[in-house]
Amino acid sequence: MGLAKTGKKSDSHDRYRIATLGSHSALQILYGAKQEGFSTIAICEKGRERPYQSYKVADKIIMVDRFSETKKLQQQLLKENAILIPHGTFFEAFEMEEFEKLKVPYFGNKGILKWEADRLLQREWLKKAGLTLPKIYKKPEEIDGPVIIKFYGARGGKGFFLARSAEEFYRKIKQREARSYIIQEYIIGAPIYIHYFYSPLTNELEVMSFDKRYESNVDSIGRIAAKDQLDLGLETSYNITGNVPVVVRESLLPEIFRMGEAVVKASRTLNGNGKGIYGPFSLETVITPDLKFFVFEISARIVAGTNLYTEGSPYTALKYGEPMSTGRRVAREIKNAIKQNKLKTILN
Ligand code: AMP
Repeated sequence: MGLAKTGKKSDSHDRYRIATLGSHSALQILYGAKQEGFSTIAICEKGRERPYQSYKVADKIIMVDRFSETKKLQQQLLKENAILIPHGTFFEAFEMEEFEKLKVPYFGNKGILKWEADRLLQREWLKKAGLTLPKIYKKPEEIDGPVIIKFYGARGGKGFFLARSAEEFYRKIKQREARSYIIQEYIIGAPIYIHYFYSPLTNELEVMSFDKRYESNVDSIGRIAAKDQLDLGLETSYNITGNVPVVVRESLLPEIFRMGEAVVKASRTLNGNGKGIYGPFSLETVITPDLKFFVFEISARIVAGTNLYTEGSPYTALKYGEPMSTGRRVAREIKNAIKQNKLKTILN
């Protein structure tokens, strides 16, 4: 890609195309890119293209049988001057090494990916940032309160279960297929997902919005009387089906900013080159009745909960005074980097 050099005539964003896989948060990303004046490409799996045609967010749709074939499109994407915007589906479609080798310019720091992909490395990062994490139990015999058992690589929290003693753990795990798991303290409180954006151009952390999840079946069990829940022998699962908007109690905002800034600062110590996380990321938290945040996961990329705010959130309204989704914010960052001849700072 011909990045403009300092001193030469300024580069222009209309030479570039914003591209992503047609899934997850692609509608928002592509719509936001168009709002910023970019032309856009959706890479769609056969049979899943309908929304991208209907909502007209893509100037071009490239069809593939499987998302993993995107690597065969590299020459074409390079010729089109495409910039890839990653989201959750990328990490299901590609092996990490495959992904790291993609030559098409990518918005974000690839060096951070392995720190997100591994739950133990994630914990190390979040601890470095000084955040409060739910306790991890090394063996079932240590269980001394409510715990959640999470399977590695479980998509959408499928099969996760609760227990409060070693005996209950062994009884329940027997009914499941053998897989690696972690035993984590279950925090009783209000789950809140925080959507951040960090700009390496302005060095500012922005709080974009919040959501909570709508999960099956856990979010519908409360519709059944407790007695019926027991009679039916229900098992909870946490399979994500959608997202619900949230605004937080305003006095929680200072802590929310502090946590985000601590995560960015800690990320600079992770991978040698001092270049930490930037762009969108999310902390998955539970707030306890005494208003303490427990952080149980980080997503180092745009999360689907931001799809609630294609025309901006109550918070971006305050900051921007114009519709500003997280997808649009990404496109704005790329546009600003092009204007300042700093595209290399934000692409990998
Ligand atoms: P995850 O796949 O880690 O995002 O978790 C799936 C679901 O379990 C979400 O609804 C979370 O709110 C819930 N969850 C995960 N970990 C905990 C925890 N330690 N305490 C309470 N709820 C949790």
